[in-house]
Amino acid sequence: MESKQPSPIDLLVEAHAGLERQGPGCAKETGRALAFLGDLDLIANAADLGCGTGAQTLLLAQHLKGSVVGLDLFPAFVDVLNGRAREQGVADRVRGVVGSMDDLPFQRESLDLIWSEGAIDNIGFERGLAYWHGFLKQGGYVAVTCPSWLTDEHPAVIERFWADAGSRLDSVAYNIEALQRCGYQFVAAFALPETCWTDEYFTPREAALEGLLRKYPGNEIVEAFVADNRHEVELYLEYQQHYGYVFYLGRKR
Ligand code: SAM
Repeated sequence: MESKQPSPIDLLVEAHAGLERQGPGCAKETGRALAFLGDLDLIANAADLGCGTGAQTLLLAQHLKGSVVGLDLFPAFVDVLNGRAREQGVADRVRGVVGSMDDLPFQRESLDLIWSEGAIDNIGFERGLAYWHGFLKQGGYVAVTCPSWLTDEHPAVIERFWADAGSRLDSVAYNIEALQRCGYQFVAAFALPETCWTDEYFTPREAALEGLLRKYPGNEIVEAFVADNRHEVELYLEYQQHYGYVFYLGRKR
């Protein structure tokens, strides 16, 4: 009997479940964003949407005294987060749940902080911010990273790459206006440095891709998946001056 072929989604989960993080970012930049939030002891209830295996969920828990719910579409990622929370002795305050960022399981006006790194573009920056607004208390904060144009030159190959992945890039100025339109006071925006992409994400991901090639020798679906991922790296190294992840912080008015 033929063994089942892995789908690209299976491969995405398999390649990423063992990684520290599933997209560009790093602890230092998460800390830099946290520093804009004033008195962290006032944050009783936080959510990390599109948390993956929870790199920044657990970091939030280290900085906050309150509870943090990490939410992600993929049960395999959420299981890793819950395991790590137990290992780190914070499972009483950190809980991973399976769910979708556009159908949140929270009470309205119940959260002091909504965090989301590398995920909001999956449902749209403005659409996500507008929907999440209803779940924050007045004065609550939102902090998200979103791929954005950093210059006025928008190479078509980059636009196409992100469109094929279901995302669109806008300028930082456009996104700040969108954040304000959604009912937030603008707090800060800053771009993530190159090392957040390369050392923190692409390098460990490449090791995982090598592992997939060894596990599925000669499998065309796996080879195409690996080629797509490597193409992303080539594009980033060539065009990185024009786009990148930007941290946006806002406060509910
Ligand atoms: N925040 C993590 C990090 O920085 O390591 C993961 C970032 S990864 C680029 C994007 C994450 O968003 C993935 O874990 C993916 O499963 C999740 N995701 C995508 N669409 C989602 C949705 N509609 N609802 C919840 N999670 C989603």
